[in-house]
Amino acid sequence: MDRWTASWIRTGVFIGLLVLLAVGWVEVSFLRHAGARELARRTACKYNLKLVHRAIVEYRSESGALPPDLDSLVRAQLLDRESLYCPSGLLLSSAQDAKYLYYPENWGTEQPVVMEAHDSHLLWENALTRTFSLPLEPASFGLYSDETVKSLFER
Ligand SMILES: [Zn+2]
Repeated sequence: MDRWTASWIRTGVFIGLLVLLAVGWVEVSFLRHAGARELARRTACKYNLKLVHRAIVEYRSESGALPPDLDSLVRAQLLDRESLYCPSGLLLSSAQDAKYLYYPENWGTEQPVVMEAHDSHLLWENALTRTFSLPLEPASFGLYSDETVKSLFER
């Protein structure tokens, strides 16, 4: 092996090590950010449910009755369409699966009026906590008629 070839091999090994380090760094920062992003989506999901509550109350005071479905709130321009969907669910499933479920018969009871259609946050919790040991509480949110939004696991 001449000196020229040996020098190229050393350069190749050096570049290979740099690539490995870069991949490792990207993986670690991806996981850290994946956890932070899921926490941000949970906050957005709870905020959606607060907005839905405000829209239901406005709809009720304008029309004297609860809306027949959540789409009525969008048609009445009391709510943006994207507030009808869990942001974590939209990443994992079809839009229809990510859409919140509405139980108008639960208005005024102890049962949730609007809740997650899908265990979207649980799937993230499974993936991030169980696989990568990121600390995420299990969560699946419900909106109650007194405006409380909390994880269904807290009851
Ligand atoms: Zn959600």
